[in-house]
Amino acid sequence: MNENVSTKEPEDAVKSDVVVIGTGIAGLYTALNISERYTVTILSKAALETNNSNLAQGGIAACVSPSDDFESHYEDTVKAGAYHNDQKHTRILIEEAPVNIGKLLQYGVNLDRDEEGKLLVTREGGHSKRRVLHAKDATGREIIRGMGEEIHRRQNIRLMEHVCATWLMVSPKGVIGLLAIDKDGQQAIYQSNCIVMATGGIGQVYKNTTNPSVATGDGIAMAYEAGTEIRDMEFIQFHPTAMYTDTPGQKFLISEAVRGEGAILRNIHGEAFMEKYHELEDLAPRDIVARSIFAEMIKTGQSHVYLDITHKGSEFIQHRFPTIYNHCLKEGIDMTKEWIPVAPAEHYVMGGILTDDYGRTNLKGLYACGECACTGVHGANRLASNSLLEGLVFGKRVAEDINKILSEDQSNEAPLIGRIGAEKTKTNSPIDISALKNRLKETMDRHVSIIRTEKGLEQARGEVEEIRKTLEGSQENSIPYHELKNMTTVAWLIIESAIKRKESLGGHYRQDEMEG
Ligand SMILES: Cc1cc2nc3c(=O)[nH]c(=O)nc-3n(C[C@H](O)[C@H](O)[C@H](O)COP(=O)(O)OP(=O)(O)OC[C@H]3O[C@@H](n4cnc5c(N)ncnc54)[C@H](O)[C@@H]3O)c2cc1C
Repeated sequence: MNENVSTKEPEDAVKSDVVVIGTGIAGLYTALNISERYTVTILSKAALETNNSNLAQGGIAACVSPSDDFESHYEDTVKAGAYHNDQKHTRILIEEAPVNIGKLLQYGVNLDRDEEGKLLVTREGGHSKRRVLHAKDATGREIIRGMGEEIHRRQNIRLMEHVCATWLMVSPKGVIGLLAIDKDGQQAIYQSNCIVMATGGIGQVYKNTTNPSVATGDGIAMAYEAGTEIRDMEFIQFHPTAMYTDTPGQKFLISEAVRGEGAILRNIHGEAFMEKYHELEDLAPRDIVARSIFAEMIKTGQSHVYLDITHKGSEFIQHRFPTIYNHCLKEGIDMTKEWIPVAPAEHYVMGGILTDDYGRTNLKGLYACGECACTGVHGANRLASNSLLEGLVFGKRVAEDINKILSEDQSNEAPLIGRIGAEKTKTNSPIDISALKNRLKETMDRHVSIIRTEKGLEQARGEVEEIRKTLEGSQENSIPYHELKNMTTVAWLIIESAIKRKESLGGHYRQDEMEG
């Protein structure tokens, strides 16, 4: 909580029954499931579709095929999660999947079907059955399109794009609102006793990530600052196959579904190597594939390996993976004839804001869902295509709890959406934000990546604490400043948890444990 923030009701605050922060799958689906009797404001710090959800390629896992069963989906999920999963929440995730997929289809989301109109399912790494629903290789884009259109139809939902939430406002009774800054630097207060964090991932904390620029961990950092419990931050998933380029930054993902359809990983000498590392070979769980690639990269002294799907035929590849095919072509690689250079990159955080089975946090009125939440369903390592699903299942549950709370609260008349404040923020900065960001990313890539050691983690902690001190001395109140502050808090949370966990588990791999 920002101690300088007054908790008196400001005249020009934006009021609504519910404020949802984030327009990814979790935020949009939560908002759509709030009863139309209540006013909802959704904030997005970029355009509605700039988020991880929109980039999801492979698909969304759900047990909808007659050859599949809940038990098998559950087993695959906890096995990938190194049995660190919350069992109750994982069962909820899997058993409530089909009904939420049904709802998604009602919003006009078009998932791929066969000639008879039956939903098509594919297989991905760690899944023992074909259960991944998809919309070609741009599943997230189709989901966000469908839900986005539905959001625009709803009278009770007000969408505020390019507005960045910066601080939670908290009274002894719980959350009462938040502070935000828009792209012109105008500050505003959004008042509500129900706030939903759906702010997505943390990828920007690392130099190489599949996440877009908005993924700076804001929700996790804001919730932490407000006193909310954060859990399991040491578990970071590095996607094995981000397309390799020698410039750092956001990396294009080569979906796991490409391996699901038979692609083979080869080292720089052309040798297929996954059989040396795991019985499931190229479809082994992600952490194992990422470490195996990393090991081959070290062995061969190269910064990438290759993914080979050339044996599947040009027509199949272009039809099944049009987005990936076209992107590769733009980068000068024809994937129907050539191997794609790939290397691991940060992809997903398993930890986050600790929530119960209805997305409630330990701070009254504050909910979290989607990637920023830690429901425990992914354990120490997320099973492919379970995260879009988590956004749906727990987003709906958050909305159900809010509907119940609001219906029981007699004092709660649906407030009107009000005017936005116009206080200009200070932007004069004596600190070099971009240099500090690079320093943070370098530190995280070097010491807190796929393979970790006590010594490296301690070094990283020292670096991050220095960056934190520099930021604390600044008067800046701009979006880049808040993002860097949040990234630094998130980096610190990851490092602290990684230092505490001495053993390797899922997405947390301690080399010193292996050596010792
Ligand atoms: C390239 C890629 C491919 C993937 N493929 C798959 C897949 O096939 N299947 C699968 O299940 N998962 C996949 N994932 C993971 C999955 O997409 C994400 O975990 C999931 O979409 C997260 O959804 P979300 O709603 O929690 O967050 P996001 O979709 O990331 O949305 C976060 C939202 O919060 C907003 N926001 C953040 N901070 C603030 C702030 N301070 N103020 C206001 N707004 C803010 C952002 O602008 C954004 O709108 C993939 C991820 C990536 C990056």
